[in-house]
Amino acid sequence: MTSLEKLTRKNIWNLAPYSCARNEFTGTTATVFLDANENPYGGTFNRYPDPLQTELKKKIEQVKGIPADYTFVGNGSDEAIDLMYRCFCEPRVDNVVAIEPTYGMYKVCADINDVEYRPVLLDEHYQITADTLLAACDEHTKLIWICSPNNPTGNDIQREEVIKVIDSFQGIVIVDEAYSDFSRQRPLRFELPRHPNMVVLNTLSKAWASAAIRLGMAFASPAIVDIMNKVKYPYNVNLLSQQQAIKVLSDPFEVDRWIQMILQERSRTIEAFRQLDICEEVFPSDANFFLARVTDAQRIYDYLVEKGIIVRNRTRIMLCHNCLRITIGTRNENNELIGALRTFR
Ligand SMILES: *Cc1c(COP(=O)(O)O)cnc(C)c1O
Repeated sequence: MTSLEKLTRKNIWNLAPYSCARNEFTGTTATVFLDANENPYGGTFNRYPDPLQTELKKKIEQVKGIPADYTFVGNGSDEAIDLMYRCFCEPRVDNVVAIEPTYGMYKVCADINDVEYRPVLLDEHYQITADTLLAACDEHTKLIWICSPNNPTGNDIQREEVIKVIDSFQGIVIVDEAYSDFSRQRPLRFELPRHPNMVVLNTLSKAWASAAIRLGMAFASPAIVDIMNKVKYPYNVNLLSQQQAIKVLSDPFEVDRWIQMILQERSRTIEAFRQLDICEEVFPSDANFFLARVTDAQRIYDYLVEKGIIVRNRTRIMLCHNCLRITIGTRNENNELIGALRTFR
């Protein structure tokens, strides 16, 4: 791996971060806080929240098995995605490589940060070889984006190829495991100590049923986490979200039950979908959604909208012509979808 100093933008490496009141004081015995211009009245939410989310990270360590100094917590994974560009990519000089098709935010954030985005097409099984990805890199490639299980295709990317990319690439490889709770593969975050150039993204928005609180995590070496923490807004995760995140993480068994129900429903819904006249192909899924090729994605999408059922029309995405992406809902919701599609003509 190239040294972190060389990978980081010069202005960021040299940045003196904003020193907030909550950061400056680190003792534990104080009871009179006159350092942050807060209103002393008004109860629970009058104080600034912990900028480094110490209590939440302890809970994350219990549940996810990753120590606090390997953990960045952000306002959704989307914050971590944007931060990777702001920390490591010099606008109009550096570039990034990503699998294609994949999650749209990698490209949007590249465009916002004026960084060249190099999509590399998946093969007909929605897989990629390490050599193909590496061939798209040059001396200005700072980041490689891999999403596994991938959105919108739904499948795991072959683990050996992902590891080969991480081991061969001199820059940073980000593996987005937003859907790993639904996959049978062992989460890559457990391999963190062996891969100092790997960043693993997790989120509470999917299996953890907390999309509304905007809580994402990036797991990486403490050196990378330090750089991200230096650049983030001081109070990037509000207290309501920190408290609610601690609450949902305190009942992982409830989440396991949800995941089991969703996986059962996934098998049942895919089986029923395959029997439909409109179905051409359902692609294998390791996530809480599936991608299906249908006879006429646009007409079927419009028909479902009219019935109040919203799926994602992916027909204009590369390799996804006439494809719909369908999230697994409750048993009743899935039945409504299948029922509606049976009467499509
Ligand atoms: C949904 C999703 C996320 C979640 O983003 P948040 O900002 O944490 O809600 C991240 N990555 C992928 C690939 C996703 O599909």
